[in-house]
Amino acid sequence: MAKTKYIFVVGGVLSGVGKGIAVGSIGRILIDRGLRVSAMKIDPYINVDAGTMNPVEHGEVFVTEDGDETDQDIGNYERFLNTDVTSLNYMTTGRVYLSVIQKERGMKYKGHCVQVVPHIPLEVVDRIKKAADHSQAEVMIIEVGGTVGEYENILFLEAARMMKLDNPDDVVFVLVSYLPVPGHLGEMKTKPTQHAARALNNSGIQPDFIIARGREELDKPRREKLAYFCWLRSQDDVISAPDVENIYDVPAVFERQQFSQLLAKRLHLRLKKKPRSAWDSFVKSVHTAKRAVKIAVVGKYFGTGQYTLSDSYISVIEAIKHAAYSQGAKPELTWIDSETYEQNPQAVHELSHFDGVIVPGGFGTRGIEGIMLAIRFARERHIPYLGLCYGMQLASIEFARNILGLTGAHTVECKPDSPYLVINVNTTQAKNIADNRYGGTMRLGAYRCLLKKGSLAHKLYKADEISERHRHRYEFNNEFRTQMEAAGLQVAGVNPETDLVEIVELKGHPYFVGTQFHPEFNSRPLDPHPLFVGLVKAALRTDPPLRV
Ligand code: GLN
Repeated sequence: MAKTKYIFVVGGVLSGVGKGIAVGSIGRILIDRGLRVSAMKIDPYINVDAGTMNPVEHGEVFVTEDGDETDQDIGNYERFLNTDVTSLNYMTTGRVYLSVIQKERGMKYKGHCVQVVPHIPLEVVDRIKKAADHSQAEVMIIEVGGTVGEYENILFLEAARMMKLDNPDDVVFVLVSYLPVPGHLGEMKTKPTQHAARALNNSGIQPDFIIARGREELDKPRREKLAYFCWLRSQDDVISAPDVENIYDVPAVFERQQFSQLLAKRLHLRLKKKPRSAWDSFVKSVHTAKRAVKIAVVGKYFGTGQYTLSDSYISVIEAIKHAAYSQGAKPELTWIDSETYEQNPQAVHELSHFDGVIVPGGFGTRGIEGIMLAIRFARERHIPYLGLCYGMQLASIEFARNILGLTGAHTVECKPDSPYLVINVNTTQAKNIADNRYGGTMRLGAYRCLLKKGSLAHKLYKADEISERHRHRYEFNNEFRTQMEAAGLQVAGVNPETDLVEIVELKGHPYFVGTQFHPEFNSRPLDPHPLFVGLVKAALRTDPPLRV
């Protein structure tokens, strides 16, 4: 195999300018020119993975096929690159230090003094190369989390610098930076980016390209300025990346500036002629979508102060979009904080103005009674409903309480002394909890699921067996299965090894599906997920049978 080429993507000025989307978009334009591409993320925090972090603080925890709890950017890579990535493609400071310390304890450094430099960056280099080997990529794109100039990512930049020094023709650096337009000036300013480039220089790195993020398109004088003051070889190496309405437009924005050719030239790569790709057709469907489909997402991880943070459910949002576009529909999403229904149960009636309701994953007691009011409303008023993980567990509890009459039915997670533990804990998980072993111990990653013939799920997936990704600690309690099924909540999917319930669906309802797994992690622009497509199709139907 040809030598892998490496593109490091680092951030300047501030976080949240879309480095992940830039990585995904660079990947996409190179794939569309015939290259094999993979992407990886380095996060500077000490947490070994993203699994133990609060979603409001950190955003979504994205789960890989092999069960790693990673940063949401990994989800962006999978969606843009249309490929699975593994846990090898993700590292944190914690993960790197942990393995260095474990190696030291195992005498792997043969008695040498183990030091922050070079051993930490060398471990990073090693991990990057392993991920590249495993993915068989011709190009590996590596996103370094954080912004340049801060302490946290210095050792990762040092690793990148070492790689460039060893193989100057195989490594390029892309600085994704932000150009503010201060209100009182009304003019786009380049200075913060100049400082960011200097900060990068201080780490021994010269950016090859600058992606200039900003509200507007970059003009000629500012392009010149950036090229001069940031020591770029040409003004063409500044790529303007203005805000776009849809993230999936970004590859086209890059390609209009010939970014794939510029990268290929620098890395000595051969590109194929660009055919009209499946991606182009997808982007077209985004722009031609007409009919609105209104989906309410009822959850609890929205509020941070006065802001609404939909990042906690990014894969859910994207999955809805993919499904909607595939049906020629324009998704209109509304976030509803379930606690508002607890304060005012009548407010749940607003859901009748929506075409569909989604309850995404979640943990703990806060807001769940409000969620169950929403589920009940969707069930009784025949509003298409998709429950993801907690959304499936709470739908089962709501059903047990209000249809089976099991007053006080609950999940062991919130009320362990409930007489009807519809959602329970198995012995392995009970032991994890008792031993305070929380990190990386949930039921994680892909598991098999056999679909029941004749079920809605079977019809939608068009398969007898599927595999989906999980992230949960508690399970549907099989003691209630017969009772539930007899009353109309059908088990449509089970894991063949453990007999665990993976999918429930309600008979006689236009669309009421709950999954113990997270289908959103498997939805791609080029491959929308069947359960989301099912929801959107049901939501688009103009004659809902029961809207009282
Ligand atoms: N809190 C539930 C569990 O741990 C559901 C988790 C989730 O929604 N991801 O089983």
